[in-house]
Amino acid sequence: MRILLVEDEEKIASFIQRGLAEQRFTVDMAPDGEEGLYLAEINPYDLIILDLMLPKKDGISICRQLREQKNSTPILMLTARDAVKDKVSGLNAGADDYLTKPFSFSELLARVRALLRRERNEKVDQLRVGDLELNMLNQQVRRDNETITLTNKEYGLLEYLMLNANQIVTRTMISEHVWKEDFNSFTNVIDVHIRYLRNKIDKNKKKKLIHTVRGTGYILKEDN
Ligand code: CA
Repeated sequence: MRILLVEDEEKIASFIQRGLAEQRFTVDMAPDGEEGLYLAEINPYDLIILDLMLPKKDGISICRQLREQKNSTPILMLTARDAVKDKVSGLNAGADDYLTKPFSFSELLARVRALLRRERNEKVDQLRVGDLELNMLNQQVRRDNETITLTNKEYGLLEYLMLNANQIVTRTMISEHVWKEDFNSFTNVIDVHIRYLRNKIDKNKKKKLIHTVRGTGYILKEDN
């Protein structure tokens, strides 16, 4: 899952970025409102964490502009003050939730997960395709009850394939949701990671789950 973090306070930004990366999210960072809006307009994020007070363009304006453009990416607003007015204007501008600073990382993570769940219309953080299970809370992956250890990128890739199980996932979609802003999708990095993933998920299994769709991308499904 790919998240945009728009926050000008470096300490808070790196604290959030580090925490989310540990939870295997892909995070793009913007230090001001203009850059934040630009990134939000050109990339399909799964979630945006948006500070209210920002240089160049404030969080409320960004939120309003994105909603006017019919961008429905969930937005979690960060407010510095515990002012009811800020929260109300944030929610009025189209934010989905807000968090008052200072907050603990676990609070933030709980809000992030709740918003992502709401977006998927699901109550659980457990994904399953055949005998392959992925727990989004602790990032544990098991196939046929055997634990599989994945790198961050392999995990991100598998999570994305599982969230879109039984649908064709193109290389462009993968590059947009699993890799960061500076990723060059013309390289064969995605195919290389798919190969690593196959080695861990499908090798020595009768039933393959990851299938290649020639010229397009991949599909994760139970039957051939
Ligand atoms: Ca700020």
